Amino acid sequence: MNQIHNPSNLAAIDLAHHLHPFGDMKQLGEKGVRVIARGEGVYIYDSQGKKYLDGFAGLWCVNIGYGRREIADAVSRQMNELPYYNSFFGTTTPPTALLAQKITAHTGGRMNHVFFTNSGSEATDTWFRMARVYWAALGKPTKTHVIARRNGYHGSTVAGASLGGMKHMHEQGNLPIEGISHIGQPYWYAEGGDLSPADFGLKAARELETKIDELGEDNVAAFVAEPVQGAGGVIIPPDTYWPEIARICRERNILLVADEVICGFGRLGTWFGHQHFGFEADLAPVAKGLSSGYLPIGGVLVSDRVARVMIEEVGDFNHGYTYSGHPVCAAAALENLRIIEEEALVERVRDDIGPYFAAAWKSLEDHEVVGQAESIGLIGGLQLAADKSTRQRFAKPDDAGVAVRNHCLENGLVMRATADRMLASPALIITRSEVDQMIETVRGGLDHLR
Ligand code: PLP
Repeated sequence: MNQIHNPSNLAAIDLAHHLHPFGDMKQLGEKGVRVIARGEGVYIYDSQGKKYLDGFAGLWCVNIGYGRREIADAVSRQMNELPYYNSFFGTTTPPTALLAQKITAHTGGRMNHVFFTNSGSEATDTWFRMARVYWAALGKPTKTHVIARRNGYHGSTVAGASLGGMKHMHEQGNLPIEGISHIGQPYWYAEGGDLSPADFGLKAARELETKIDELGEDNVAAFVAEPVQGAGGVIIPPDTYWPEIARICRERNILLVADEVICGFGRLGTWFGHQHFGFEADLAPVAKGLSSGYLPIGGVLVSDRVARVMIEEVGDFNHGYTYSGHPVCAAAALENLRIIEEEALVERVRDDIGPYFAAAWKSLEDHEVVGQAESIGLIGGLQLAADKSTRQRFAKPDDAGVAVRNHCLENGLVMRATADRMLASPALIITRSEVDQMIETVRGGLDHLR
């Protein structure tokens, strides 16, 4: 037992047997792995006892913070009552039904059904099939093509990685699969050239219209995008972008899919990201903040437009996962949503800590290597720049991001870097002084790039 708890022993055991997701095993073999052993509030502790402020909420998911006993108790109660039963073939369980009611109640009455999955990736596969089945049921079987964006992220399953626009993922496993196209991203800083952000937002959105014309409207099922691109670098679109996308989808009769896996459950100061931007989604995959990561659970929110067809025309949707709506995961999610409601965390992000974080984050723009510091609610993207007057980027963008990230880690702050963008996504319970601590540590990291 003692031997197992010895930190260096644990790291060695891990390296000997655990193939890490998104991890270069050869490099990890040289650098070693960090064993995270405990969490409390916004802090995590490694097995050596070192404390870190988690500026990333795990992987954009621990919205209510670590160490909530209420969730452990709810899970334990459900485990004892009924550890598992499925929702196939006409059964359900109490927490599954109650969770479906609670999630959909936050959609403003527009999305009254949810299809449960175990993860965001499975949610992607689910809506991808559902969109095609929807059109086929309406007598339009050629409407199968899905348009997504370069540098978007929708998961790691075959459909997920194909819909995502990550080149390094497409290069492995012969992706994307057929029937998927990508358009550009609304990343003004890097791709906007001389256009104003507003004009660039329109231009980026109109690429969708051009792509629909190219493919033929009768062949396109849906367009998918994250309200704010997360893994791609917290890229916040110009204000003109989403209204134009919504107009195009409406006029060209294609489904609009808002990937809410990161933006959902309060991160932008609204229950869902599309509510912040004021557009209506036909389908919306969710995961992460649904259970704050305490147990794996995801789903697809289904608008009344799509649900009517799925229920009345399709009937039997031959799709599902053994653990769809798993009662113990549903109990964890229910308790998580109860906490978010009771502590008014969405409102807190909108009216209190979000504006505080926005001002603190924006203050980093006075640093000579910061080209732009943008945020909405508690998600922030920091653009590093070699010359901010000309928006010139560092010659080696990855190295710039890694240098800042490593400084933060050494100084007790977990931050993520995507090339030359620093990303922040702390738990929704973060305090003002913890925000200050984050900003001060990031500033120290930026000084290394001078
Ligand atoms: N969609 C988005 C926007 C995501 O950020 C992610 C994961 O980061 C996914 C889908 C995939 O979710 P999961 O990792 O739970 O499969």
